[in-house]
Amino acid sequence: MQASIEPVSLAEATPCPSGVTALLSNVLCGDFCCGCGACIAVCPRNAFQLRADGIVELRPSYDTVLCRGCFLCARVCPSLEEGSRRRFEERRAARSPVGLGQTRATVRAWATSNRIRKKASSGGAVTGLLLWGLGSGLFDGTVVTGRNAEKPWLPHPMLTSDPEMVVECAQSTYAITPALTAFRNQQGCGSSDSVAVVGLPCHMRALARIEQLRGLLPWKLPKIAVRLELACSSATLISGAKSLIQTVCDVRLDQVAEVKYREGDYPGCFCITTKDRRKVSVPFWQMVTHFQQFKPWRCQVCSDWVSGLADLSFADGTDDPFSLSRSGQTGVRQSFVFVWSRRGEDLLRSAVETGYLGCEESIFKANAGLELKKKRLAEATKVLNGRGNIELLANIHTRQWAL
Ligand SMILES: Cc1cc2nc3c(=O)[nH]c(=O)nc-3n(C[C@H](O)[C@H](O)[C@H](O)COP(=O)(O)OP(=O)(O)OC[C@H]3O[C@@H](n4cnc5c(N)ncnc54)[C@H](O)[C@@H]3O)c2cc1C
Ligand code: SF4
Ligand code: SF4
Ligand code: SF4
Repeated sequence: MQASIEPVSLAEATPCPSGVTALLSNVLCGDFCCGCGACIAVCPRNAFQLRADGIVELRPSYDTVLCRGCFLCARVCPSLEEGSRRRFEERRAARSPVGLGQTRATVRAWATSNRIRKKASSGGAVTGLLLWGLGSGLFDGTVVTGRNAEKPWLPHPMLTSDPEMVVECAQSTYAITPALTAFRNQQGCGSSDSVAVVGLPCHMRALARIEQLRGLLPWKLPKIAVRLELACSSATLISGAKSLIQTVCDVRLDQVAEVKYREGDYPGCFCITTKDRRKVSVPFWQMVTHFQQFKPWRCQVCSDWVSGLADLSFADGTDDPFSLSRSGQTGVRQSFVFVWSRRGEDLLRSAVETGYLGCEESIFKANAGLELKKKRLAEATKVLNGRGNIELLANIHTRQWAL
């Protein structure tokens, strides 16, 4: 777990003279960062960096007198938005449901290509849609997250227009991910005019805020053609994957050549390939259980399983992949898709009509990740209700609420 830092009550936070102070006192010092990378992406002074566990910190060499006071960092941070603060402070009653909102449709979908399904987390619907969108010219680039070539336990967000790279990046990386930094690094990948963005609910929140600042950013924001969101129970600190590799797989980090989180028959295994081509895998349920000790603080009190800001959201096609994995059985590769917008509906329909995806109507009943999230949130809220402010939450890091 991360070291405890001086806690700050959101309720008591005073108005700040600059964005960096607002971010420091409300998010970073209270440990509410989810590592989305938005502040790193937008700061013209390059004030922020990732800590080893994936959460953001002020660069030790950064002197806040250099700060332009532009407030960009504070304005894009999903943990600092007013709505989010209100939810932390007022609206998280123990019995309140994690609202999913009104959908246009709910379906199960899958990539028709065997190769994509085999590489994907569940049905490969996200990757199938991206390939259709790139191939049809609907967008000419996409933000995806693969794994770092040298340290493959680290997520590697990128903006790419290469369909092969999109397939390579298929499969969930269950780690805290600075997806929004892909925009800042886009120069290296050629310039895209219109892009798809794949991300978690907190990424979608930050993206919506970044879009409002178009023109004020230190780089050109392409048109966002479509937002594809992965439903999210929680992410895991980078130390989670490192610990799994070292203690459960019994492999030294310097021996790891490749990391996959959902490899093999559905629901898949955490699988590493060593430099001497040895494969070591851990069943999905055991990975999830191990990761429970390594949850970012922000994820423990995040109410968004889906954000309501994406065009389409994607979840596992079976209600409970954890129990399926635990029973030793395997299942069919399908993704559950929530259709939120007309744009999402059109995209899905076109991908099905052109043969990229298979699809059938389906009513959403349950999801183990969503239930887990509700339970964790209710636990956090009990404490919130008992003492009424965030300070207490920030003080009890070591309590394990992952289940
Ligand atoms: C941290 C996390 C928590 C999740 N929690 C749940 C849950 O509780 N319940 C549930 O049903 N599903 C959950 N999912 C979603 C699920 O794992 C699948 O991603 C989803 O079913 C889509 O599968 P697919 O086969 O269609 O996607 P794929 O075709 O495999 O494509 C996945 C896409 O997601 C991108 N991606 C991978 N990891 C990340 C990341 N960390 N951040 C941003 N983009 C990424 C990849 O670049 C790729 O484009 C979670 C995913 C993540 C990453
Ligand atoms: S320069 Fe702007 S974005 Fe960077 S830390 Fe200061 S206020 Fe935040
Ligand atoms: S939540 Fe995102 S924007 Fe906010 S401090 Fe963390 S990385 Fe930066
Ligand atoms: S639980 Fe919330 S804050 Fe954490 S990674 Fe998921 S969407 Fe982001």
